[in-house]
Amino acid sequence: MVSRVIPVDPFDLVIFGGTGDLARRKILPGLYLRFLSGQMPEDAAIIAAARSDHDDDAYRAIIRKAIDEFVAKDKRDAKSIDAFLSRLSYVQVDAMGEGGWKELAGKIRKGMVHAFYFSVGPSLFGALAERLHKHKIADRKSRVVVEKPFGKDLASAQELNATLAQHFREEQIYRIDHYLGKETVQNLMAVRFGNMLFEPLWNAQYVDHIQITVAETVGVGGRGAYYDNSGAMRDMVQNHLMQLLCLIAMEPPNAFEPNAVRDEKLKVIRALDPVEPKDIVRGQYGPTGDEPGYIEDSENPESRTESYIALKLGISNWRWKGTPFYLRTGKKLKARASEIAVVFKDPPHSIFGEQEGRKGNVLVIRLQPNEGMNLRVTIKEPGPGGMRLIEVPLDMSFAEALGADAEDVPDAYERLIMDVIRGNQTLFMRGDEVEAAWAWTDPLIEGWQGAGTKPATYDAGSSGPEDALALMHRDGRRWREIAV
Ligand code: NAD
Repeated sequence: MVSRVIPVDPFDLVIFGGTGDLARRKILPGLYLRFLSGQMPEDAAIIAAARSDHDDDAYRAIIRKAIDEFVAKDKRDAKSIDAFLSRLSYVQVDAMGEGGWKELAGKIRKGMVHAFYFSVGPSLFGALAERLHKHKIADRKSRVVVEKPFGKDLASAQELNATLAQHFREEQIYRIDHYLGKETVQNLMAVRFGNMLFEPLWNAQYVDHIQITVAETVGVGGRGAYYDNSGAMRDMVQNHLMQLLCLIAMEPPNAFEPNAVRDEKLKVIRALDPVEPKDIVRGQYGPTGDEPGYIEDSENPESRTESYIALKLGISNWRWKGTPFYLRTGKKLKARASEIAVVFKDPPHSIFGEQEGRKGNVLVIRLQPNEGMNLRVTIKEPGPGGMRLIEVPLDMSFAEALGADAEDVPDAYERLIMDVIRGNQTLFMRGDEVEAAWAWTDPLIEGWQGAGTKPATYDAGSSGPEDALALMHRDGRRWREIAV
């Protein structure tokens, strides 16, 4: 197998917030790796724009350090790093003022793809969009990339959409949810719609339930104050888990084409049932040993913000009516593991009689670590002991199956930035999708805020609050182990 790298068209990419954490950790290291792979054309230019005062050389030194820190050693090639850095320049720009804009305008070349990455807080989106137009830097062909969080509720998301819409058409706006750039997430679509095997079974008649887990081991320390205004529902469910749910539940689009895919995702969000309070479990991690609990990390003794949430959802459409979707995500859990598990129903009748402890088929799509898939099937236990059934995994780690090619799989940011340059919006959220997700999320948050309920405390390093186990047990089901 040979990986194919098709160079993108020459581009000018302006990164507002080019000195920030995201630019240093993800965007620039990602661009370097694309440069190394040969995907970034020689004459592409990256222009960092931020508030602090640097010249080109000082900025290149910052990014050299970032590459040293955030790119694997075996990918750090001195000659390539120099060549990459020579593509970078820096302009001091104040989004809220007039300084620097003329200089920036002078750097934008005719005949290139023009992309503007807003790697700054959303309060600056309007000012940036306005000045890009005022100084004739952006036009109707330019692309603009915006980061999460895209609002904190429906009203703020609508406001952001309206602000951007004053200057850009929807086809120019790329709202990043980096989960959509993950290799396995796209594999989800390949597996569902590229095989005949699964799709006929992919409905309420054959699927007992679906579990989506995004578990983290880190707490919120360091960004506790920011997180405390958000919480797991806003920070993870409204965007990442919702996107995974959409890809799992959506109808086959007629083509792998941006609006066809996004139309189908939107229909899923609109078909989500309201969630009753009894189907929501919220938690906060407690202190352990020397390590602070959520309350200390958030520096808010009265905090009622959840660092964990589990929900049972229903989708009211022909395909899914009656099949529950259980979602959970949390911080300081026992392992860093994200997966989607499709748990199939038992066969209608066992010709082998009652078999103690038998479990049905489960298709697990692992997002991290060890991206891959695992299908649990029933076979006969080897040996002469009669027809005893056991379950075995048909395990496929993509890294093993694809060998060296798996190492060249670009990370989510690398892929998404190249998609922006290619003008492909399939893996980006459309404005109406984001608004529909908030429209579903808002009443749930208002519900628990109105009731004044406090999240349950759970032990750091555990699987989450006890009540989350009960959410499943009550239905005669259980969560899968959170394990690496
Ligand atoms: P940061 O605070 O580290 O960097 C902010 C950048 O914006 C700096 O380069 C700063 O110079 C620039 N800036 C601030 N005010 C400016 C102004 N008036 N004019 C011009 N430039 C200005 O922030 P970050 O962590 O890099 O995050 C950037 C955006 O990405 C935020 O919206 C954040 O929510 C989002 N995001 C960040 C991460 C992450 O891992 N850091 C992950 C997901 C989303």
